[in-house]
Amino acid sequence: MAPEDNSDDSSSTLKHWRVGDVTIIRIVESQTLFDIPDLFPKATLEEVRALPWLSPHFVTPEGRGILSVHALVIDTPTRRIIVDTCVGNDKDRGAWALYANLQTSFLADLEKAGFARDSFDVVLCTHMHVDHVGWNTMLFDGEWVPTFPNARYLLNRTEFEYWSAPSQHAAQPGFDEVQRLTMADSLQPVLDAGLVDLVEDDHRVCDEVVLVSTPGHTPGHVSVRISSGTGQALITGDMAHHPSQLAHLDWSIPQIDFDSDQGTATRQEVFSQVADEPILVIGTHWAGATAGMVKRSGDAFRLEC
Ligand SMILES: [Zn+2]
Repeated sequence: MAPEDNSDDSSSTLKHWRVGDVTIIRIVESQTLFDIPDLFPKATLEEVRALPWLSPHFVTPEGRGILSVHALVIDTPTRRIIVDTCVGNDKDRGAWALYANLQTSFLADLEKAGFARDSFDVVLCTHMHVDHVGWNTMLFDGEWVPTFPNARYLLNRTEFEYWSAPSQHAAQPGFDEVQRLTMADSLQPVLDAGLVDLVEDDHRVCDEVVLVSTPGHTPGHVSVRISSGTGQALITGDMAHHPSQLAHLDWSIPQIDFDSDQGTATRQEVFSQVADEPILVIGTHWAGATAGMVKRSGDAFRLEC
């Protein structure tokens, strides 16, 4: 059975897909518009407009990109997993005003969807950037405490060691400071609570869920493969921020990508593997439908929602 999209409204906060015995649920924290050439310096508006399949989910009629920040809950018969915990509330993010001191209803939305904080077994971070680890912790009585007290927090060992080292790659002004703040309020408290497991690139989380190494955006970046029965899905993480990168594999974000060439090679390899296969590809920042099937198109790819 191919994965099916059971949602009836692609713009709603809650969206879910069924993959065999596994349910995957999207919980949106925020959605923003951006100019694609600002994010990907190699891109032009003409090239974006030449990709009609990006509309309406991933670009506006004017050709602006839509970027979603959301978490994905993976509910398997034996494990409840949350993949990437967005930006979080109340956080000092230095120069990054977009992510500073958010006050969203994310946690209430998660609970409303039926997922109490204490019901999670695993927190999975595809990498350790600010918009993927924020709800690892929450402010309680003036202290940062683990949001998911009964979960093991899985971090890729390579990724953790890179960000724990004193000097990091930071082409964008202020990014080092944001990462330092992020480590302090979103990672250190879960380390102190003894909830972190450092895992390898190919770690198997449970029968249905396994990590896949997809480096480039960060050194230890991982994606998440879900298999159940004949259903298969892949959660990208930030190996591709926007579906336009399927058509232009070399569109990267040099300000924050650790290794742009490696990111391009990863997109080529992963999209080649999933293209024209019955594998639902779910984007970590893809808005609207958020997921689709990858199809070969010319010498690159497109997404069919
Ligand atoms: Zn991100």
